[in-house]
Amino acid sequence: MKLFLLFVFFLNYVQAEQIWFVKFSHKHDYLSHIEKTFPLIDLLEYDYDQSSYIFLIPKNYLLNFARFIQQFDGFYRVIFDIIKDTWKKSQLRSKRWIPPDNPLDKTYYQHFLSYDEQQNWNSLLANSSLTKKFIRLHTIGQTYENRSLTVVQIHSKYRRRYKHRQQRKLSVFIDGGMHAREWLSIGVANFVLIQFLTLKDNDVKVQRILRYFDIFVLPIMNPDGYEYSRTQNRLWRKNRSPTIASDFWNGDESCYGVDLNRNFPYQWDTAYASSTHPCSHSYRGSDPSSENEVQSVVNFLQTNKYSSNKFHAYFNLHAYGKFWLLPWTYSTLEKVSNYEDLLKRCNQIASNVMNQTYKVGQASFLLYPCSGTSIDFAATLMPHAMTLELSPIFKGLPMCFETNQTINHNCTVGFLTDPEVIEIDGTEIFNAIVEYLNSIIQDYFLS
Ligand SMILES: [Zn+2]
Repeated sequence: MKLFLLFVFFLNYVQAEQIWFVKFSHKHDYLSHIEKTFPLIDLLEYDYDQSSYIFLIPKNYLLNFARFIQQFDGFYRVIFDIIKDTWKKSQLRSKRWIPPDNPLDKTYYQHFLSYDEQQNWNSLLANSSLTKKFIRLHTIGQTYENRSLTVVQIHSKYRRRYKHRQQRKLSVFIDGGMHAREWLSIGVANFVLIQFLTLKDNDVKVQRILRYFDIFVLPIMNPDGYEYSRTQNRLWRKNRSPTIASDFWNGDESCYGVDLNRNFPYQWDTAYASSTHPCSHSYRGSDPSSENEVQSVVNFLQTNKYSSNKFHAYFNLHAYGKFWLLPWTYSTLEKVSNYEDLLKRCNQIASNVMNQTYKVGQASFLLYPCSGTSIDFAATLMPHAMTLELSPIFKGLPMCFETNQTINHNCTVGFLTDPEVIEIDGTEIFNAIVEYLNSIIQDYFLS
């Protein structure tokens, strides 16, 4: 009893949310139960067959959730507390970085750029004699905190050589940083950008892509959330706009912001994992496209304002999980009409050019159904829309979830990322995108 009281005392004084690994002794649908009782809990990973879960738990839930687990004969380990100090230190730069004049310098992707550094780098790309011929910048909107959403377009000087001359070039859209804490996706978007620009003069496949495609990259779709994650709460996911609950909940930070990947207008609010609670990490927003970031991307893709070439492919970058996710996300009952083609194409590319094992499949099956996602919206406009969940590495530690019950001090969860991983994952993703776009060229233009 004394021990339990001490435990209660400890939990009451914990200041922040925590990540827990949870395992129940019996197989049972705990998730729907948890969803009802603890609507603000953030499910990060789960394995239904093993009854194992990783949750991000708001501080107000810690005590009751511990009781809940005990009641169902389960156990848990706190993960985040174990590693947060190591993690904090790892995010600091070892020495002051001075942005080089060469916009293609490797250091631009060897650490995580702040939003301001990113904007300066975008301008350098557009003004440097090395790259300016190939770059156009488009401000597609402003965030709630008045940051610009800047899309970098790579367009080529290469002449189009089409078999069918009436065919126009196509456009491809790549975005990162939709979820604030998924820093790796921003680094990888930048890496992809640099690779296209570096290889444009001597790589045949890249040259071919630039002949047939305009490439649009939005490295940071959620800059307000990203800056909040960098400076206030590393685990922040949403954007930073106020919600109807922001004042009511007495300034609780979790009642700010909308999950951008639940706010897109197609099938908005039709699946259970898109929360109606403004304080949830997965809050879907008050209306479809209520958020500036979402409205800006929707307009950008729908109106084709910056290119007369239609959008044909969309790569949406997230971290983490090693998944290659295809629409639909909102339903397990429906399939996109070209699903079999997408599946075959992605599986083939994953086995040809990706060293790590990515699971390919419909998002609603591989993860869980959730609605209002960007790939579901994009799939209504273009035939190739997909999400890549990247694969972070932290200090060489194994992922806690893969080590299953043997949680100890020597494991990690996916948001923790060494900056060196940007190049490792970036190389795989770049190769996959190059193969993918070449396969489209083969089918669309050359066959
Ligand atoms: Zn994400």
